[in-house]
Amino acid sequence: MKRTSLLLACALLLSSCDMAKKTADAPFFEMRGLVLAWDDLSNPEVIDWFEIMKTYDINTISVFGKDYQSEEYKALKQKCIDSGIDFEYEEHAMSWLMDKSLFETHPEYFRMNEEGVRVSDGNGCPSSEEGLKVIMSNVKAFADRHKPTNHRYYTWLYDGGDICHCEKCKDFNASDQGLIFENHIIKALREFDPEAQLAHLAYDNTTPAPSCVKPEEGIFLEWAPFYRRWDKPLSDTTAVRDGQKWSHADYIRMLEDNLKVFPAETAQVLEYWLDVSLASGWKKPQKQLDWHNDVYLDDLKTYASYGIRRITVYAAWIDPYYVETFKDVTCVHDYCRGLQTYRHGRKK
Ligand SMILES: [Zn+2]
Repeated sequence: MKRTSLLLACALLLSSCDMAKKTADAPFFEMRGLVLAWDDLSNPEVIDWFEIMKTYDINTISVFGKDYQSEEYKALKQKCIDSGIDFEYEEHAMSWLMDKSLFETHPEYFRMNEEGVRVSDGNGCPSSEEGLKVIMSNVKAFADRHKPTNHRYYTWLYDGGDICHCEKCKDFNASDQGLIFENHIIKALREFDPEAQLAHLAYDNTTPAPSCVKPEEGIFLEWAPFYRRWDKPLSDTTAVRDGQKWSHADYIRMLEDNLKVFPAETAQVLEYWLDVSLASGWKKPQKQLDWHNDVYLDDLKTYASYGIRRITVYAAWIDPYYVETFKDVTCVHDYCRGLQTYRHGRKK
């Protein structure tokens, strides 16, 4: 072997060792995310979220509560892009895709309530072919205004909205109905973004898995266990929040059912461990978060055990007021450090 070839071979070997080492050292969770409210970012001298994200290698952010087309919002997005942080838009988008003003001329596009009356209170009728066409025709404009940097789109159903009870829809559960919309939306998305992926949000009435509809290529599970407890881990299967019907055992079963329908490789968790807005009943001034790092770390192990490698959390309302009042953001550091350092998922 000539000397130059030998040197080249050594260099290649070293670089592949380096790559293998980097892969072995990489955090288990590929997506390490935060969902913040606009005001949370308002005073970096009190809490500098960018510095926190840089320190712990948080790689994905979504920010709500500001006009997405405003110059300030666009500047924030650009700052994320420049910092190598993926930027996405997590929204209940049904009314963006089907304007409620259509109800006047086309009530059949909208859901039927249990009394047999069409209503324009949020969700559509997924058996209305015409309605689905309207939704698909609005996808491009929606995506242009909500363009993520990672091809992951979110067009959640109406928040807390009931589903359609018409004759054609009555045998579909809420998740089936959501998925029918999403299966159409992903087709429209892929016409201009072939790498597009779209969330199927398992939350509230869509937490149980779809009963009969199958996801199209590109739909990923977004798991948001809204009615669980956060002072007990999901692995504590007897835990149940006061006044709620689902225990942690039910949540684990529903997660397993969903993972029979959606691939674990693309599934994403949207948790509430850091959600001060929820903990405060969405009323300001906010309360101090009851933070349980041991619960959070145990939950990470649970999610990893199912092969889930994407974790995000609502951290809304950990804003300058919160920091100045409670003078403790250990929860934020614990969360970010947990994602950065977690390595070993138990394979089931
Ligand atoms: Zn219907």
